[in-house]
Amino acid sequence: MPEMPEVETVRRGLQAQVKGRKITHVEIRYQALITGPVDQFIEFTTGAVIEDIGRRAKFLLIHLNNGYTIISHLRMEGRYRISADPSAIDKHSHAIFTLDNGEKMIYNDVRKFGRMQLWPTAELANNKSLKKLGPEPLSKEFTFDNLKPRILRHRKDIKTVLLDQSVMSGLGNIYVDEVLWKVKIHPKTSANHLNDTEIQKIIDASNEEMKLAIESGGSTVRSYIDSTGHKGNMQNNLKVYGKEGTPCPRCGTEIQKIKVGGRGTHFCPKCQVVK
Ligand SMILES: [Zn+2]
Repeated sequence: MPEMPEVETVRRGLQAQVKGRKITHVEIRYQALITGPVDQFIEFTTGAVIEDIGRRAKFLLIHLNNGYTIISHLRMEGRYRISADPSAIDKHSHAIFTLDNGEKMIYNDVRKFGRMQLWPTAELANNKSLKKLGPEPLSKEFTFDNLKPRILRHRKDIKTVLLDQSVMSGLGNIYVDEVLWKVKIHPKTSANHLNDTEIQKIIDASNEEMKLAIESGGSTVRSYIDSTGHKGNMQNNLKVYGKEGTPCPRCGTEIQKIKVGGRGTHFCPKCQVVK
């Protein structure tokens, strides 16, 4: 699943390729892709100019000049491709936006889990999916005062709590493992046992990790690829995710993989000890 840095990379690619373009034709081939009435989606997007591409956590926000925004979530394997080549369209192309320069913005999704929804731009804060998101790294809301009560409210293990998008948003399975390794906190530590220093360290490490991941163009794990067809190289910076059986880069102990809250979790049993 693409995580926030991958979605940010997609956002930047789209921004460079389709910002300012007018949508001249819209074809929806998989009706369930659209949340809400499909005919209305087509009517309101056709003829609109793409003003800007924003993002909130893992949601892409395609802002149109008519007061509406397409909220697009890639979920497992959704991806955008911009091309004038008709062969770029295949059986996994579920939405095709023709642009005024002859190119098409093609949404592909092999597993069909991705969704798009049209929403008034001025009302985005009230959208059900966006409303519940906690502060995200690298934003001005991502502060100790905002995060501390959200984390300490939970008795669950810190891994599960950091994955909960209503606590903080944007960090998925890969980056939570990396952050917890970096700050030497065992993923099974109860969230409410953390002290102020540890919470601050989690905040700092989350910002650093997201910054590095975005600069690297995201991680290419599984099928992620950006809208220009480039692969990210953040996977080269990962220290524990997917590294079970290899030595911890800090102490040499073998990285272990366990399940925490049902999720595959990578950690160093020497550096990260349960409190
Ligand atoms: Zn270690």
